[in-house]
Amino acid sequence: MSIYYIAFGGNLGDVPAAFHAARQCIEQLEYTDVTASSLLYRTPPLGPPGQAYYYNAVIAAQSELAAEDFLDALQMIEAEHGRIRAEHWGPRTLDLDIIAIDAETMDTKRLTVPHAHMQNRQFVLRPLCDIAPSWQHPRLGETASQLLDSLLQAGESALPKGSTW
Ligand code: ATP
Ligand code: CA
Ligand code: CA
Repeated sequence: MSIYYIAFGGNLGDVPAAFHAARQCIEQLEYTDVTASSLLYRTPPLGPPGQAYYYNAVIAAQSELAAEDFLDALQMIEAEHGRIRAEHWGPRTLDLDIIAIDAETMDTKRLTVPHAHMQNRQFVLRPLCDIAPSWQHPRLGETASQLLDSLLQAGESALPKGSTW
């Protein structure tokens, strides 16, 4: 059994509805239970200019599924909710990333765990800190809350408070 931390993101269409549906789909995967959900945040877009603000959240799920099977399931859920992959970092209805799997590290063709950019992304670290502030990054040795503090100390402004969803 592993604990998966999964980041949700989206900025196109009814994103909160897509997040609810995706969380329910994850809960319904075999051998899998959603155990925690962060607040829901509004965050400024990365990538191509002129995009709408994003919604972001992180959930924790206990699962017996292997990592690649879990990724397959997430990609199927993205597809069911109309994920559009037109341009890199462009607008999308639903993006589901595996942020971490306990303290595992993984580097395969399809998966880098922990997620390669998580330490630079307040829109991942802020919600992760809601549910697992003391999770420790197995490569960097810092906790989620230390990683978030580093971004704030480097001058990033803190995200506005999240809301329940
Ligand atoms: P970013 O990775 O910068 O957040 P993105 O989420 O927009 O960008 P995608 O187009 O959704 O990128 O994914 C590209 C590929 O990333 C996927 O096909 C998947 O195989 C790979 N990938 C590697 N590590 C992970 C991970 N930890 N979680 C999800 N996908 C991953
Ligand atoms: Ca992503
Ligand atoms: Ca992704």
